[in-house]
Amino acid sequence: MLGRGGCSPLVCLGALLLLLPPPVSPHSLNQGGSSGHGAKDRPKLLLLSFDGFRWDYIHRVPTPNFHSIMDEGVMVEQVENTYITKTFPNHYSLVTGLYAETHGIVANEMYDPALNRSFSMETDSIYESRWWEEAVPLWVTIQKAGGRSGAAMWPGSDVKIHGLYPSQFLPYNASVSFETRVERIIGWFSAPKEEAVDFAVLYWEEPDESGHLLGPQSSLMDAVIVDIDEKLGFLTNELKKAGLYEKVNLIVTSDHGMTQLFTDNIIELDEYVSRDLYTWVDKSPVVAILPNEGKLDEVYNKLADANPNMEVHKKEEIPEQFHYQHNIRIMPIILEAKEGWTIMQNRTGPFMLGNHGYDNTLRSMQPVFAARGPAFRQNYVKTFMRSVDLYPLMCQILSVRPLPNNGSLSNVQDLLSAEPATSAPSVPPRVSGYSYAPVVGSFLSVVMVLGFFVVYVREVTLKQLPSLKHRRREMSQPLLQEDLHL
Ligand SMILES: [Zn+2]
Repeated sequence: MLGRGGCSPLVCLGALLLLLPPPVSPHSLNQGGSSGHGAKDRPKLLLLSFDGFRWDYIHRVPTPNFHSIMDEGVMVEQVENTYITKTFPNHYSLVTGLYAETHGIVANEMYDPALNRSFSMETDSIYESRWWEEAVPLWVTIQKAGGRSGAAMWPGSDVKIHGLYPSQFLPYNASVSFETRVERIIGWFSAPKEEAVDFAVLYWEEPDESGHLLGPQSSLMDAVIVDIDEKLGFLTNELKKAGLYEKVNLIVTSDHGMTQLFTDNIIELDEYVSRDLYTWVDKSPVVAILPNEGKLDEVYNKLADANPNMEVHKKEEIPEQFHYQHNIRIMPIILEAKEGWTIMQNRTGPFMLGNHGYDNTLRSMQPVFAARGPAFRQNYVKTFMRSVDLYPLMCQILSVRPLPNNGSLSNVQDLLSAEPATSAPSVPPRVSGYSYAPVVGSFLSVVMVLGFFVVYVREVTLKQLPSLKHRRREMSQPLLQEDLHL
């Protein structure tokens, strides 16, 4: 039976169902069955961040363990991370696929005028859930889909977010050794089937701390990088000993790079504007300024052309490329130092020899990236990716549907060995700010399917039961209810 459109309503309906994107929902982690991943071999993924590991450190001294991973898997030569290139914003971008203006962790030090609260890495404010709940980290999405996750010290991973902690996690404690963190992660992956984690995040504070203290140009950094490489070797050995090395996909990356600072390159704000006119919210190299009530233009005018090594932006004029404007936690004035320069109120404060936070297109600000495991190609080098693309890639590996994000799987699909058997969408939804597209899409899908179903029933009943044509008046309601079984 052919309809006017050239196919039967049943075939059309089937084709429509195949073409429609699945509704965006976090509740879709495949549990086996049609996914092709039985519960026994559900995909596993470990995301490791060595804080402040600049992309070129692996070329500076012998780093055999990094190179093994690259030879056995993939590397990306240039990873453009997110602005500002600070620790908290970038670690949250890695697990949400969102720019800072959308996930809401816009800096390591923030002020939220709506909450009238301040956030600081130095205080317990980081444990307040509301700071984190403008986004949903991957571990929460996986758990809501029925999976399990583990976290060792990753920023935000010991905070209850949307009602959940990771299934297993270590409360932040900088004195816990890397080896202990690894041992816990290995234990979580090795647990009995119902207890084992599917996804884990692992964080280590180096080489960031040494990079700040010594400056990346210091020859003393060589030993720090060698030590990181040995730590990576420890991890891969432990994975091998536990029989996990060929099962667990391993991604090794970082939040940002590091650049050398110079004591001559200091911009002292006190020379240009009185401290009585503003509040200093976040520190160099991207300084967030909250002018006092009614003092915005005065502060801006005093700073705008004050120093050629400092860009001064009103919030609404922050360049679009930074995706750093549309959030109440971004302050009315942003000062951005040129690379290698430091903005201070005066020289009496502590001075570091290395720093990050600058423009995310600077090579010095960009992190390392290498990955291996059953999901990844082997011995493959990719030229460029954005760190927000990692989130849809991880969702694909884990067979979990991504939430709306700023990344694109198609940008990084070539890193994967093959398209895994999964019901996850091949093109994840993207957002620019907040998006209601998934909700609207799901609603339209339901309406269209119901519409086709109604048309199909009408055609079948009209053609196969000619006598019903005389009951056209009832077709719209009683017939469908009474005679659907026909
Ligand atoms: Zn960092």
